[in-house]
Amino acid sequence: MLNVLRKIVQEVSAAPDLESVLDLTVRRIQRAMHTQVCSIYLLDTISQRYVLMATQGLNPESVGVVSLSPTEGVVGLVGQRAEPINLEDASVHPSYIYLQSTGEERYHAFLGVPIIHQGEVLGVLVVQQFERRRFDESEEAFLITVSAQLAGVIAHAEATGSIQPVGNHSGGGAPLPEDRRFSGVAGAPGVAVGQVFVATLPADLEGVPDKPARDIDLELEKFTTALEAVRNEIREVSRMLAQRLRSDEQALFDVYMRMLEDNALAGQVAERIRAGNWAQGALREVVDEHVRQFSSMEDPYLRERATDIRDLGRRVLSHLQENAGSGEVEFPDNTILVADDLSPTMLGLVPEDKLVGLVSVSGSGNSHAAILARSMGIPTAMGVVDLPFTRLEGRDMILDGYTGRVYVNPSEDLKNAFREILREEQMIAAGLETLKDLPAQTTDGYRMPLWVNTGLVSDVERSLERGAEGIGLYRTEIPFMTRDFFPSEQEQLKIYRRQLEAFAPRPVTMRTLDIGGDKSLPYFPIEEENPFLGWRGIRVTLDHPEIFLVQVRAMLRAAQGFNNLRIMLPMVTSMHEIEEASAQIDRAVRELQEEGLDVERPPVGIMVEVPAAVYLTRRFARKVDFISVGSNDLTQYLLAVDRNNPRVADLYAPYHPAVLKVLHFVAQEVRKEHKPVSICGEMASDPGGALLLMAMGYDVLSMNSNNLPKVKSAIRGTSLAKANALLQRVMRMDDADAIHQYLRASLKSMGLGNLTRPALPGRD
Ligand code: PEP
Ligand code: MG
Repeated sequence: MLNVLRKIVQEVSAAPDLESVLDLTVRRIQRAMHTQVCSIYLLDTISQRYVLMATQGLNPESVGVVSLSPTEGVVGLVGQRAEPINLEDASVHPSYIYLQSTGEERYHAFLGVPIIHQGEVLGVLVVQQFERRRFDESEEAFLITVSAQLAGVIAHAEATGSIQPVGNHSGGGAPLPEDRRFSGVAGAPGVAVGQVFVATLPADLEGVPDKPARDIDLELEKFTTALEAVRNEIREVSRMLAQRLRSDEQALFDVYMRMLEDNALAGQVAERIRAGNWAQGALREVVDEHVRQFSSMEDPYLRERATDIRDLGRRVLSHLQENAGSGEVEFPDNTILVADDLSPTMLGLVPEDKLVGLVSVSGSGNSHAAILARSMGIPTAMGVVDLPFTRLEGRDMILDGYTGRVYVNPSEDLKNAFREILREEQMIAAGLETLKDLPAQTTDGYRMPLWVNTGLVSDVERSLERGAEGIGLYRTEIPFMTRDFFPSEQEQLKIYRRQLEAFAPRPVTMRTLDIGGDKSLPYFPIEEENPFLGWRGIRVTLDHPEIFLVQVRAMLRAAQGFNNLRIMLPMVTSMHEIEEASAQIDRAVRELQEEGLDVERPPVGIMVEVPAAVYLTRRFARKVDFISVGSNDLTQYLLAVDRNNPRVADLYAPYHPAVLKVLHFVAQEVRKEHKPVSICGEMASDPGGALLLMAMGYDVLSMNSNNLPKVKSAIRGTSLAKANALLQRVMRMDDADAIHQYLRASLKSMGLGNLTRPALPGRD
């Protein structure tokens, strides 16, 4: 059964439209379960009726015609109860309705299972048989499994608009209608009205968008050149391996060459180019088709060929991209950069004066790309999973970074509504600018130091302009990510010195390299099943003392003459990590002193980001000079919610009562040791969160520079006494959403309503 199931899933995922998906499913199930009937009813969202959409066994004429209300028939009952119903004889069930045109009167045994996606019933999958019998447990389990798989495909198909929803049979690749809305999660606040530019990673075939070919002959020529380059590569590899491979293994290269011939891949791509797609898009279309066909084949050998086709496709693509050069790229004036998986390095792709928004199909609001976007102040939507991004190049788009929604093909009315919000935002920002030189002091005289998180060179200027009093987190991995290999000590020294010099005499907290998780270096790939629980942060650098030492030496040398450096260690879990890292730092200091340099051991602190560190905070505090809480990771590890996964983004709740309890506990523990405690997670960037953290006793709040004026305004607009009362009230509440709502309402009642998000068009 497992084999049958796998095959159905593969075929279903490869089917070009919803009709084929449903037809294939009923045919395969009927055959696999040896039933007389298999049918699918889908809920039409407009008429709110279950419409018969596909059948094997019932009268085919009734497809699209027969329908039931949710209170009618056993099918309606399955939908209502959202659970399977297994009957020996459906015709004697009280809910049974005889559907005349279907010819179902001859069948007795009935098994119906709901098709459910994210808690919503999309339809009902039914099998029926002549005889009177109950379907057995394994049959029921099989049908439930197919239905669960089918649900995702149907939901995605309807949401992307690549397939029309139930009731409209026009099918495949229909143009997107006006104001088509797609939902993701908030990435960075703000709104944007602009035009889409789809960013592709090198050789990421799946991410290549469709674009009209401007010059068909030129596209054909580019394709031929790329193809020839790949042929040469294959010949070269084949020649090099000739001695080492058996002749049957060597034959694989002939297979590759044949795949590239005119009557195979090459001819088909050329055809698509002539039909108007640019070479890269045409290549993606053809490779996709072949991969789908091969993946659904019975024979394991042929199935494997899907991998070969994909590999060939990537090779051709990389040559096409190489030859494209950068000169060809023309960005629209208001570019909204859309990517399948937005990475921190992509943020530099578009000139700053042209970039108005960012959209990522995967990831969530806590992904590092989103954190950087917030610091740069670029409105961003993340995890817009249903966005058909390959079809959006050059389209008009509205982006709402407060809610994570995007609108494709927006109407003039909607554009005007969002342009109005843009104007309002600009006015608020101009008002906040006047705060730059004023202290972050409450109305009852409590002074709260506000620092910033940095990573990009441009962060320094932005932060100083907004009145930052120090750097609480400099993410050193960011400059590492935009290079082709590890930067040398000298190169690092130059990069670090810019941050230290610009901020001197204000403190600059440099975090040692924190890679792993969702931050990978192109030249040091870490492939893991579970990267957030893997080789991350301090674990990597302690395993590579040569990298760690060079980095620390560069920091110490860069701080010469300024003496404003603090070193911070990420992802600490155990005491021995602190001891080992401290020993390395001591060694670097000693070495440099022996080399005659005037360096001192800087204050060294750790980040509390994992639950283990929470419970050991007090002991750790005795060993180090300061503690800083990384609430982004701490929230993900406490709640067991991947900060990058849009599917669980709703569950990532910084105001979860458990998170608040832990944050309060850590502050109290560190204070017992009379050491400074700060926070550098995103929570400090939220005006409501900042008030709570101030009341908890955090000595420093470090945030993205963009939000600093808002946080300062919140602090100046209230008293410590009020913030304490707010904290006390919130600490008694049980629900994260309720806490969030309460905070927003409280800010409004304190007259700080303009610091929360504006009223936005569209449903909330
Ligand atoms: C954190 O985890 O809260 C943090 C500040 O570090 P990063 O977001 O870079 O993982
Ligand atoms: Mg972290």
